[in-house]
Amino acid sequence: MSEQPRVEIYTKTQCPYCEKAKDLFDSKGVEYETYNVTGDDDLFEEMVERAEGRKTAPEVFIDDELIGGWDQTAALEETGELDEKLGLVTDGGSEVEHRKLIIAGTGIAGLTAAIYAGRGDNDPLVIEGDEPGGQLTLTTDVANYPGFPEGISGPDLVNNMKEQAKQFGAELKNGIIESVDADQRPFRVELTNGDVYTADAVIAASGASARTLGVPGEDELMGYGLSTCATCDGAFFRGEDMLVVGGGDAAMEEATFLTKFADTVYIAHRREEFRAEQYWVDRVHEKVEDGEIEIMKNTELTEIHGSQEEGVDHVTLVENEQGHPTDRLDDPETNEFEFDVGAVFYAIGHTPNTDYLEGTGATMDDEGYLRTQGGSGGGQTETDVPGIFGAGDVVDYHYQQAVTAAGMGSKAALDVDEYLEDLERAESSAETEAAAADD
Ligand code: NDP
Repeated sequence: MSEQPRVEIYTKTQCPYCEKAKDLFDSKGVEYETYNVTGDDDLFEEMVERAEGRKTAPEVFIDDELIGGWDQTAALEETGELDEKLGLVTDGGSEVEHRKLIIAGTGIAGLTAAIYAGRGDNDPLVIEGDEPGGQLTLTTDVANYPGFPEGISGPDLVNNMKEQAKQFGAELKNGIIESVDADQRPFRVELTNGDVYTADAVIAASGASARTLGVPGEDELMGYGLSTCATCDGAFFRGEDMLVVGGGDAAMEEATFLTKFADTVYIAHRREEFRAEQYWVDRVHEKVEDGEIEIMKNTELTEIHGSQEEGVDHVTLVENEQGHPTDRLDDPETNEFEFDVGAVFYAIGHTPNTDYLEGTGATMDDEGYLRTQGGSGGGQTETDVPGIFGAGDVVDYHYQQAVTAAGMGSKAALDVDEYLEDLERAESSAETEAAAADD
């Protein structure tokens, strides 16, 4: 038996991406050592040194080689290189496995669909996607999911759902769907690691990914003081001034959370009114009164300055009291200024993960949200392509709640059940007709 390479993961407490990394190696049956850097300055210094200055957890090493954080690890998984490094690659006779149902995504929508489809004997294969567990794994406390009067942590809710789905026969697999070929039936579903399946039905529950701004400094400093996940990375910048960009619920929640660590949290929002619900705005205003948060309205970020060695040093901001200052750069009223912060957190919404459905004929809007039938009767989650269904944040740009995603996931599984029954009936009557014609 070949020897497994040594896998080491630097982690910290309350770190959803660390859990994702561990889950990934667990799912491959790979053993690893973990070092928790929380509260251990020496270990933290060791991690930063080995990780060439990166200050975010997890940091993954295989046989002493720096793989990087979750993004880098997931990218290697996507191309199949992670398995190569782990010595898991077989000679790869590319056998095509057939499944009744493939579900894309293990967020709340995908997992609820998996629970229902498992109970319905539809033998679902659930492909985890590049953010296993979905966005709820990045949330500390879910206080509005019915049935949990004390609240529940996002990762706990997701893990409970995974267990429940597995109990009913769902199979969960790490991987990312690259394409669905709808010109052939069953559908041909290809993963980025080269695995291929055929499937009678597909539920797209692949959620949405954090948006970025595309400003100078962003690519270089992502993971070095710039982050899209305050709950994951906030604690690394203890005592710094921090900037949160955005004006929705996520921005308010993250800013409130960051007050635990920051000297001062600044919120930069591009217009006068917050999009966030009043509950969050009120909580932020309480922190403003306490001097822990400062709000900068009609302000946008145009550049992030710093280095991978030293992290974020300062940012360039523009402000115009009419709002949307980057649309008014030539306006003499637009004020550009440098602002010192040690960390920046984006909370500017998400983009649906629907690229793999391009070419199937499923209708999407300009942003890539999938269109489903909706309406009040059955079949609400059907797309324009019979056999492809949509649920959760890939469809819903409006409600985007865990509980609405769960509701759509259950609807999708019930719609699939009906679709598969119709398909079976059509196939058996075609066989009967063919047999009668032969007689
Ligand atoms: P939203 O789309 O609600 O808000 C995004 C914010 O980012 C908006 O204020 C928007 O500005 C701003 N923004 C978008 N693009 C840019 C840009 N290019 N430059 C500057 N600013 C930009 O996303 P959220 O992630 O906040 O929330 C998504 C959903 O999740 C919502 O339904 C929300 O209710 C829910 N949620 C609930 C939470 C809770 O209750 N615990 C926590 C987090 C999210 P503008 O307003 O001008 O469009």
